[in-house]
Amino acid sequence: MTYKIHPIFLGSLEISESAIFYRGKGSEKMRMSMGAFVLESEDGEYIIVDTGGPSRSEIIEKGYPFEQTDEDISFEEEIKKVGVKPDAVKLVILTHLHWDHAWNNHLFPNAEIVVRADEIITAIHPHKTSIKSYGWIDQEPVPRWINQIGQLRPVQDEIYIRPGIFLMHTPGHTEGSISPVIDTKEGKVALVNDMAMNMRNLTEMIPNGSVDAAAAWYRSMDKLLATGAEMIPTHDPSLYDRKVIG
Ligand SMILES: [Zn+2]
Repeated sequence: MTYKIHPIFLGSLEISESAIFYRGKGSEKMRMSMGAFVLESEDGEYIIVDTGGPSRSEIIEKGYPFEQTDEDISFEEEIKKVGVKPDAVKLVILTHLHWDHAWNNHLFPNAEIVVRADEIITAIHPHKTSIKSYGWIDQEPVPRWINQIGQLRPVQDEIYIRPGIFLMHTPGHTEGSISPVIDTKEGKVALVNDMAMNMRNLTEMIPNGSVDAAAAWYRSMDKLLATGAEMIPTHDPSLYDRKVIG
């Protein structure tokens, strides 16, 4: 089975270089984008990879302590534009449980939500440096992903969740990060989520600025490189110039 990958652009913002490059000096500003992905199979199934964060207006309205994008873009509206009917979605894959990847799970009441078991454990009681990233904030009683706990399918192994979609364990940015490796008509594509913030993390092999474990990052990159897949990082702005991958 092969898939078309629809990158879903969710806005962009400026951040300091140190957030993008491990041990970066932080003197320069760089652009990053927010995003998620929709996979469309040859037989018409839509699968969601990550559910984005709150929109700019939601962040302002609720006073959430998150970075705001310059644009006000709704995840729900954007996925509908590529043909997704949220009620019909049967599978959501979460690369990790940070707020900007797992906020809108409630839109998919009939889906199984796949996430790694070690990521759930980390997210329930994160280290103090990651509390906000995992969505533990004053404005919500619990992180948003916990509201759909009955739909979660924790996975502990690297498995094919569908023919042509391999869930590779790639710790580094977080303990339980998944990089789905997807068969497309143009070859394998790995959605490496926040393993890289920018293509330069990949071309220069520099971990991103928020890695939980740099040594694990290098090991995960070796695994990804061995697949021969094209690597797609969620936050790189240039990616969203492509309407469809594969
Ligand atoms: Zn992210």
